[in-house]
Amino acid sequence: MSSMEERMELGVAAGPSSSGLGVGPVGGAMDAGPGSAGLAGIQEESAVRRDGAGSEPDPDAPPKKRVRLQEGEAGKLEERLYSVLCCTVCLDLPKASVYQCTNGHLMCAGCFIHLLADARLKEEQATCPNCRCEISKSLCCRNLAVEKAVSELPSECSYCLKQFPRSSLEHHQTEECQDRVTQCKYKRIGCPWQGPFHELSAHEVECSHPSKTGMELMGILDEMDQSLRRELQLYNGIFSLLCFEKIGFTEVQFRPYRTDDFITRLYYETPRFTVLNQTWVLKARVNDSERNPNLSCKRTLSFQLILKSKVNSALECSFLLLKGPYDDVKIKPVIQHHVFSNDANETEYALLPINDSVECNKLLAAKNINLRLFIFQIQK
Ligand SMILES: [Zn+2]
Ligand SMILES: [Zn+2]
Ligand SMILES: [Zn+2]
Ligand SMILES: [Zn+2]
Repeated sequence: MSSMEERMELGVAAGPSSSGLGVGPVGGAMDAGPGSAGLAGIQEESAVRRDGAGSEPDPDAPPKKRVRLQEGEAGKLEERLYSVLCCTVCLDLPKASVYQCTNGHLMCAGCFIHLLADARLKEEQATCPNCRCEISKSLCCRNLAVEKAVSELPSECSYCLKQFPRSSLEHHQTEECQDRVTQCKYKRIGCPWQGPFHELSAHEVECSHPSKTGMELMGILDEMDQSLRRELQLYNGIFSLLCFEKIGFTEVQFRPYRTDDFITRLYYETPRFTVLNQTWVLKARVNDSERNPNLSCKRTLSFQLILKSKVNSALECSFLLLKGPYDDVKIKPVIQHHVFSNDANETEYALLPINDSVECNKLLAAKNINLRLFIFQIQK
């Protein structure tokens, strides 16, 4: 790997992670705060991230291909505002920064970066998909009024399903919602109870854990120690991977497709992307391609990593999927391992380590699944 690329990949990986919106330049671009550093330095990473390798037609290529479900045209003010404030490319409400072309067409940060990256790949000047005027980091600016207006639009609490302004939803969900998931205060001595906040005090009154004997508690504490030890091992494992010489990461976007079987099945695939100078693809399937996943309420996603480039010698890698800067997925860090070669270029399917079926359904309901993939090359 050239030192330039290495700096790009490693430098990005080393970025501060305090923003909550993700590390690295892409995260920086998504920062909703005023005066964020902007988009400097993102293009290379984005170009890699969106790399379609030119071999397959990108399903998103004409940016206006996706059509939003009709929302009542004469509906409520909020509904009409949705269509006014949405990104003119993906037609979604922007989650973070909003950019505009010189004629005022709005683009969410993700789409804006996508357009610039595509243009770089095609060696063309990027243009606004609406009016074809030139767009670039210096020609376009943020539109703070739209960002603020979007944050005032109602959004649904995922526990009680009531509507709140986007800007206060997080506070409601973590502090106020009567239906938010809480844990018994005796969790520290092993009570596994979990339930909605409005049932918490009734449970705590009846909880049997405070009256357990020392002997019983010793057993419970031992088990808890063990799980802490496993967690510590995992984090130590990740920290030692971070010391490797060759580390690459990229944002990956799983897009839904259907098989062309008689009974079609949903599966996911990312566009080809480049990490550590190799071309890769990720695939994912629902309930391990069970025949009718819609009939079961247990939902899982499993994924595999496929090396698309030919290699001269075996490529031993550890890899890790984490939440990306664009989506809020609750995913646990699990390190996978595989020795890639031309004969063994696919990993087995492994469970995507998300919390539960609810989390899985959230991903299935979303248009795409955006994650961040780290690959650590193990050198002997
Ligand atoms: Zn967009
Ligand atoms: Zn325009
Ligand atoms: Zn709520
Ligand atoms: Zn309890």
